[in-house]
Amino acid sequence: MNYKKILKEIETEIQSELKKGKVADYIPALAEVEPNQFAMTITLADGKQYSVGKSKEYFSIQSISKVLAFSLAIDTYSTSLYKRVGVEPSGSPFNSLVQLEYENGIPRNPFINAGAIVVMDALMSHFGGDYAALEKVMNFTREISDNPIIQFDPIVAKSEMEHASRNLALSQLMKSFGNFENDVHEVVRTYFKQCAISMSTEDLSRAMIYLAFNGKDPISNKEFLTEAQAKRINALMLTCGHYDASGEFAFNVGLPAKSGVGGGIVAVVPNIMSIAVWSPRLNAYGNSHVGTLALQLFTTKTGLSIF
Ligand code: GLN
Repeated sequence: MNYKKILKEIETEIQSELKKGKVADYIPALAEVEPNQFAMTITLADGKQYSVGKSKEYFSIQSISKVLAFSLAIDTYSTSLYKRVGVEPSGSPFNSLVQLEYENGIPRNPFINAGAIVVMDALMSHFGGDYAALEKVMNFTREISDNPIIQFDPIVAKSEMEHASRNLALSQLMKSFGNFENDVHEVVRTYFKQCAISMSTEDLSRAMIYLAFNGKDPISNKEFLTEAQAKRINALMLTCGHYDASGEFAFNVGLPAKSGVGGGIVAVVPNIMSIAVWSPRLNAYGNSHVGTLALQLFTTKTGLSIF
């Protein structure tokens, strides 16, 4: 397959869409990002990468980090984690409070905010505090992306902490139901730092290849998850990776994938490749408008989808 040519075609075809959608402005630091940018990278099993656009530019991975933290947590807690967070699509926005009340403080899945905050709470309990838990997530991210200099952006994290009411409310609600172990502010602050990790599409695409190959990175030969664990994370990405637009994403793109409000999306083609795409303007569901379109074009042109 001529991936270079296909990526170039996609880059050309998305140009007319680059000004559609809005950057996330509920986190003021994200609103400052130049909005009309685009990058896409694929990584194959032998480590070969193909990119178009600004594939070296660092951006805020936001909710994509939920996949990284959940990978660590599932390896640490195994199935006992599912007592605290479910595995059903929510059909609701990523920061919705309503369902959490009805369902007694147990978030539907680890990829909505409440679920990811519980995962951070669990990591802090296990590793002995905010600093240790964040270090584990950071080191895991550096290892899977084979990039030791990855950091979180403290300006983005601080900016989100200054507008944290909804995430604090989700956490307080979970605490009221007994599904919280640590200090609410400390957990939310650490969760924001995790969301503020900065990576490029080259980093992210490289990082996700363990999920395309059953938990084992085919480039480094390191096994990060068991086959069963990787299978479950891919199932969750397919059903919950785009919140209340997950069905539409599966319908149009047909790959397990996870989005973030920084405009990034990662996707895996099982046993073939991992993909990262970035364009900051979002659709109404908080997913990258052009990122979604680029992935849809990719699976249409290549015929690579899981269906
Ligand atoms: N940090 C963001 C939040 O908690 C992540 C949301 C997202 O990327 N969908 O609101």
